[in-house]
Order: sequence, then C-alpha cells, then structure tokens
Amino acid sequence: MREISKIKNMDVEWDYGNERGPDKWHTLCDWFASGAKYPYQSPIQLSKKLVDRKTVDHKITFNYKKEEFTEKEFKNTFHFIPPNTESYVLFENERYYLTDIHFHTPSEHVLEGEQLPLEFHLVHMNNSGENLVVGCLFTITTEENKFSQGREVFEWKLYSHKQSFNPTIFLPDQRTHFHYLGSLTTPPTKGPVHWFVFDTVQKMDQEFIDLIKEGMLPFNNRPIQPLNNRKIYFSD
Ligand SMILES: [Zn+2]
Repeated sequence: MREISKIKNMDVEWDYGNERGPDKWHTLCDWFASGAKYPYQSPIQLSKKLVDRKTVDHKITFNYKKEEFTEKEFKNTFHFIPPNTESYVLFENERYYLTDIHFHTPSEHVLEGEQLPLEFHLVHMNNSGENLVVGCLFTITTEENKFSQGREVFEWKLYSHKQSFNPTIFLPDQRTHFHYLGSLTTPPTKGPVHWFVFDTVQKMDQEFIDLIKEGMLPFNNRPIQPLNNRKIYFSD
C-alpha cells in the first residue's frame, strides 16, 4: 500500500476490469481512497418516483457558445477540451465553466430502470474548483437525427484533433432534468458534485459514435451507487 501511495496521483492506473476496476479504485492510492469516503457517490438510479416533492428552484441556465475543442484520449474515454473555457452554466448565481466533454458506454445513470447505450458528460467548474456535471442520455439510431451529419454539424476535421462546435448540440430541446448531489464517477470519485441529468433521451447515430469511439474500451461505466437517503429533485 505504501509503495502505491508514493506514485504520483496522475500515474495511478485504473480501468473497468477486475484488477483495477470500480470495486478496487479506492484501494489504488490514498487520493482515490479519500474521494471514495464521500457518502453520496455517483451514478445513481433516477426515477420520478424517487423525487422529493417539495418545490425548490433548481434552475440552470446554459450560456454556451461555439468554441474550439481539443480532442484527447485519456482516463479511459475520449474528451473534448475547450482551451479557452468560454461556455458556462449559471446555477444559484454562480458561473460554472465548461472544462470537458466526454462519454460513457453504456450509460452510468439508470433512468426509470433503464440503462441507455450512451451518456455524455459536460463537466463544469467554478472559480472555487467546485464541479457541476450535466448528463445527457442517448440511444443509438440509424434514423435521421441532429447528429446524422455529424461531420457537417461539427464541421468535423478528420486527423486534426481540433474541432469547433457549439456544445449546445448535446443538450435536448426540452430541458427538464433531475438534480442531485453526487460525486465524480471516475477516480478519485470525490464530491460534492452538482449533477443535472436530463430526463429526455436523445438520439445519436452509430457513425458519429464510431468516429469518436475508435480504439476505446467496449464499456466504461461505473456501476450504480447507493442512494444513502439523499434527495433527488426534478425541475421543469
Ligand atoms: Zn463521466
């Protein structure tokens, strides 16, 4: 244990297998161990039956704009990183800047008992270093959809590793969502993280997924975590 702890945190390898998978993450180094101590872990089951009925205002406003993203493959998924962090969301008068977009297959959150084939995470951070993550669930389709002409929508530049697009493309038109307090779903799984997950399941085409999923793990989802009496809110 001592020897592992001495390794620089960023160098600790983890994955979704048996040896270094989700059940073992908290044993891999002290940093991961401390993150796992946060009692409200993510992902969780989401259902309107679990929602706290007391009305609270959990409005979130998206101020996204078209900007340049750098493609990077690390930590077992594909990432779009905006170097200039111009897009942000407003929550409780606080700006959380978009710092990363990545995805999980299949989905991490389970919606009304159903695990979806794909979940995108739009990760934000405020100036105090607190995280807010927006989760978007998808099915995969061959029908016409807003990603059908992915390369055109994104003005996709093959082999360039730099793409310009407006991250609003990942959001559903209907913005009703679940909101709860949770954690990061990858090591160090630290919290609190404000989670906003849309209840609208969107469609994305196989061709676009193939474009960004090339060479990735077949699955990279953390299993469902206990609710531990936390409240789940739903906002119209
Ligand atoms: Zn994620």
